[in-house]
Amino acid sequence: MLDLKNHFLKNLFRSMNACHIFEVLLALLTGATLTGGVIRCKGEDKEPWSYNGRRNAPRAWGKTYPECNNRMQSPINIQLADVQKHPYLKHLEFKNYDESVRSAQVLNNGHSARITPNDGVVRTISVNNDTYSLIQLHFHWGSRYNVGAEHLFNSKGYAMEAHFVHGNRHGHYAVVGVLYKESFFNNAGFNAISKELPQIKFKNETTQLRSPLNLTKLLPRLPLRFYRYNGSFTTPPCTEEVIWSVARDVVRIGSKQLEELRSLFLVTRNEDRTGCHLVDNYRPVQPLNGRKVTAST
Ligand SMILES: [Zn+2]
Repeated sequence: MLDLKNHFLKNLFRSMNACHIFEVLLALLTGATLTGGVIRCKGEDKEPWSYNGRRNAPRAWGKTYPECNNRMQSPINIQLADVQKHPYLKHLEFKNYDESVRSAQVLNNGHSARITPNDGVVRTISVNNDTYSLIQLHFHWGSRYNVGAEHLFNSKGYAMEAHFVHGNRHGHYAVVGVLYKESFFNNAGFNAISKELPQIKFKNETTQLRSPLNLTKLLPRLPLRFYRYNGSFTTPPCTEEVIWSVARDVVRIGSKQLEELRSLFLVTRNEDRTGCHLVDNYRPVQPLNGRKVTAST
């Protein structure tokens, strides 16, 4: 019996390349599901836009939302050799970010998990001598290893990306993007969010944050070094009024924490949830079209 089992395993591993074996082992360790013969989510096709639907996935967004076809779209692949050092671009200054969020709405909007602080604290960043206040933060993640972040560094993917969305009084936006790499160890800063995910399992479900959330724990070590470029929102209507600051340093996120995000659904509680896990909610990278990416000093 044992021999038969060994024989089976030997043949199985022989038929896979090293990368596959690694993926399978990782999936076994983290309880992740392998994508492949994916079961499609019916509910996803009914939405005006989606990430993985038949007719409304990112490639088709421009049909319904023409701005998604414009020339300054996000995300992008940041080719590190092409990035220009900018002598006047200093570290990004965060104000009041060290004050933990004690009251916030946590929402599954069917596209992401979003946290909107409502504790009255004005958390700001200063960009090009203008002040932008934090409105909300949300995440993009994948269904498997090294997929999920929207921006790429030298074409390399990461497991998750957080977007800290800020706005100014002229209706312009400045988003800070932070990339996360999957780790065996959890990110303690994410625990306050993890705790609320079971309450927002389905689309349109919302809850209130119960534990203080220290946003600086979701950022790389400050002062933040970053890449700057002009782009758009990465979801329809893809508005191009966004100054991007993508953190140069990557933060870690636990495999278990990623699994908690992957267990959310993109449909409401009463819909058929077959194949409807909220995963791979990232837009593929967009052409640079001559835009320059600069780096802070
Ligand atoms: Zn986003």
